[in-house]
Amino acid sequence: AKQEGRNRHAFFTQEMQALAMRRLQLENALRRAIERGEMCLHYQPQISLCNGSLIGVEALLRWNHPTLGAISPAEFIPVAEHTGQIVTIGEWVLRQACVQLQQWRQAGLPSMVVAVNLSAAQFRQPDLVQRVAQALADSGLPAEWLELELTESTAMHDPQAAIATVDALRALGVHLSLDDFGTGYSSLNHLKRFQIGKLKIDQSFVRGLPDDAEDAGIVETIIQMARSLGLKTVAEGVETEAQRAFLQQRGCDQMQGYLLARPLPAKDFESWWRARFSP
Ligand code: C2E
Ligand code: CA
Ligand code: CA
Ligand code: CA
Repeated sequence: AKQEGRNRHAFFTQEMQALAMRRLQLENALRRAIERGEMCLHYQPQISLCNGSLIGVEALLRWNHPTLGAISPAEFIPVAEHTGQIVTIGEWVLRQACVQLQQWRQAGLPSMVVAVNLSAAQFRQPDLVQRVAQALADSGLPAEWLELELTESTAMHDPQAAIATVDALRALGVHLSLDDFGTGYSSLNHLKRFQIGKLKIDQSFVRGLPDDAEDAGIVETIIQMARSLGLKTVAEGVETEAQRAFLQQRGCDQMQGYLLARPLPAKDFESWWRARFSP
């Protein structure tokens, strides 16, 4: 038994070492990823559940490293957040998304918003508002076509400060949405003071629809609550027709998910749009 314990200990230590090595490797590789052109954005459409019209696209970061291969944002975003690199990376995402949307507008694609994810560290930058204004000015994109997604936990960490930042961003003319809604701890009292336009219902609740009674109840409650606060709702991670039907029936406003399209490279999004919407 003693020997066994020792082996298990050795095993865990090795595993932890491997994890720490990988982390360090990613940290170093991240430092150069943007300048080496290893990052790009994919775009995932969101449509109205009411009439099927295109509302916008969410910009999602992709990293393809020459030797490590494609690395999931679920793995590298936490590393970048931990080291603070997310601030530089996030700024690049913001600028790139604005430039892409402005190009699409000029190429005659329909009016739609581009949604960009903001990390907590980015959101807390004292000059965030100027940075957003500068990205808009440099790309020529009117503010009304940019939406910033902040997670419920970012918003509720220090609600007073967050409300002030959101107010300042709203004054610029950009839209805001609350991401991963339902996974954090929103106080209704704070929620009603946020000038936020929509709640994104977290995919962990969408997954169990329509059969899981708990998920169904939670989703219905979020939709009702959003409605009484005058907020729109978008369900993320919609994969099946049954999920879509449930959400539509319950009055959810918009959907995003594999059922509609996976996040697509810019060129593929254009083809998707042409095939689906253009006459
Ligand atoms: P998120 O903001 O909640 O983004 C939604 C995630 O769900 C994306 O994962 C998307 O590809 C995935 N997804 C969309 N539809 C479906 C579906 O029908 N089924 C399933 N199973 N998944 C679906 P992705 O692209 O891997 O990104 C993961 C997370 O990484 C994002 O979650 C976000 O928190 C973060 N992230 C991605 N890009 C950025 C970025 O530019 N900046 C920041 N700060 N975070 C980012
Ligand atoms: Ca998001
Ligand atoms: Ca989300
Ligand atoms: Ca999520």
